[in-house]
Amino acid sequence: MSQSLFESFQPLAAIATTPGAAKLLSPFCQTSSIRLWLPESVELPNDKAQHYQGSLKDWLSQAWNRYQGFIFCLATGAVVRLIAPLLSDKAQDPAVVVVEGTGKYVISLCGGHQGGADRLAKVIAMQLDSTPILTGASSRLRLPGIDILGQAFGWVKGDGDWTGVSAAIARQERVQVIQDSGSLLWQKNLPQQHPFIFNPDPATPPDAMVRITHRLISAQLTHKIPQIQWHPRVLWLGVGCTRNAPLDLIENSVDCVLKQHQLASGAIAGVSTIELKQDEVGLLAFCQKWQLPLKTFSAASLKSISVPNPSIVVEQEVGTPSVAEASALAVLPENTAKKLIIKKQIFKSETAAVTIAVSLSEKEYTAREGRLWLVGIGPGELTQITPAAKSAIIQADAIVGYSLYLELIQPLLQPGQIVEAMPITQERQRAGRAIELAQWGLSVAVISSGDCGVYAMGGLVLEKLQTVGWDGSTPAIEVFPGITAVVAAAARVGTPLMHDFCTISLSDLLTPRHVIEKRIEMAARGDFVTALYNPRSQQRTTLIEQTQAVFLQHRQPETPVALVRSAYREDEAIILTTLAKMLTYPIDMLTVVLIGNRTTRQYENWLITPRGYE
Ligand code: SAH
Repeated sequence: MSQSLFESFQPLAAIATTPGAAKLLSPFCQTSSIRLWLPESVELPNDKAQHYQGSLKDWLSQAWNRYQGFIFCLATGAVVRLIAPLLSDKAQDPAVVVVEGTGKYVISLCGGHQGGADRLAKVIAMQLDSTPILTGASSRLRLPGIDILGQAFGWVKGDGDWTGVSAAIARQERVQVIQDSGSLLWQKNLPQQHPFIFNPDPATPPDAMVRITHRLISAQLTHKIPQIQWHPRVLWLGVGCTRNAPLDLIENSVDCVLKQHQLASGAIAGVSTIELKQDEVGLLAFCQKWQLPLKTFSAASLKSISVPNPSIVVEQEVGTPSVAEASALAVLPENTAKKLIIKKQIFKSETAAVTIAVSLSEKEYTAREGRLWLVGIGPGELTQITPAAKSAIIQADAIVGYSLYLELIQPLLQPGQIVEAMPITQERQRAGRAIELAQWGLSVAVISSGDCGVYAMGGLVLEKLQTVGWDGSTPAIEVFPGITAVVAAAARVGTPLMHDFCTISLSDLLTPRHVIEKRIEMAARGDFVTALYNPRSQQRTTLIEQTQAVFLQHRQPETPVALVRSAYREDEAIILTTLAKMLTYPIDMLTVVLIGNRTTRQYENWLITPRGYE
């Protein structure tokens, strides 16, 4: 089972109280880091399982705050009674999922959105090939949950009547959105029917309001309607200070700047300063307390940035005329506008001084580690995708792929997911975009038909990562294999691949023609069963003719050939023919051509390549 699929829920506990339930849950625990807990009366099925002492109720009350999620295989009534005294509110509660005893249903019981239980239930259901049961309104309306809207982008929840706004959405009332910072990708990926209004009509006032902003909209200003605020982390604090400036002074200065300019503390992305200050005790304490990253820049790089308030005194001291303003600008992502929204402000105590400037980033800081999942979706039909690949698709924040493949997996797409379809020729852009999203902090599934590492996007992504100096781990990569066309096509016509076989792509866009010709020659001579991918395009029509001619020099004209077009898709078409006659039938880019070896034979409608048993 794939480890990374459960990573965002860690740590997770699974609980069973009978041997049958333990058996159902133990596969999850064997290969992922989910801990399986059992009463002493049930034997431990593997070394990831552990006994709890005493009653489940007592154990759970101790374990409640230790885990992000709980997977029970127990009657829902029992689970409800067990967790009832422990629940506090939906922003805090863990994910609680119940797997029904036969494994047919997986219920998201509690913590559906913010706890992640809906997602967890879907992933588990996918692995068990069962049905997830979600009862939240947003799932019914196919909308992203409003309380997890900004999760993928690392937005921070601000003030507001979250229940009121959720209720308005559930009732499909008019919800006005005012967004002045952060990604607009969520807006582009809404279903056709949604309650959000982006251009208000004064004649029909909204019933609720969502603000996505780095500003702090004070509670007094609120209308009579329910409102919420999400804060994208777009504000970078450029900070300079004297040696040993105390935490208090730094904190008060930041508070003061935020208040004066009505900025939300949740919208702070992080702190930026000069390298000289990377061990500044008060600054480190501030970053730790406010949970902010600290980025530092050399004096030379800060010096090259032009700022509104350079200082000769500062330059003489540290080698750059600006620390606060320059580092607030230096930290902004490449290729984005460099905008300072608050110029240098100086705060002094008797013994120390702090300077603060604030920049506004076009792109929010997500504080998340991105992932790239290279997913093969098989030949086309949903039943031919592995459960692990399906789970990856369901879990991804963003899905990048060729439009045809995205149509094939349409039923797996989730509300709120960012789906980026691109035309077939734009493989490089697709790979680049996937990497960009993952580097930004998103979990990105890159979709290919068949297997993603066979003439597909997977390889391109890895190659491209190498060229941008990827460190091998961030973003993390996982490859999810899929049934490649040669295997799918073979399955449709029997067992032609029972002996040594090879695949050759006849596409000469990326491979020099002489290389393809040489491989054709070798495959024919070596008596390999041969599968031709990309056999004929509109522009490239002669290579397939050449291939036939070469094979005829080494194999009988009666050698069985299968032309399998769109295997496992609605327009599937299969032709069994021979090497001599193969070109009298249509062959195109949706076809795989399977050429038998010297012993391959046709029996009824099936191809058999003997292994030598009979
Ligand atoms: N990654 C894919 C291959 C992509 S190359 C895989 O592993 O299957 C594209 C070529 O694959 C097509 O030109 C065709 O030759 C073959 N192909 C892909 N899907 C197919 C299908 N469902 N039926 C027949 N051939 C297919």
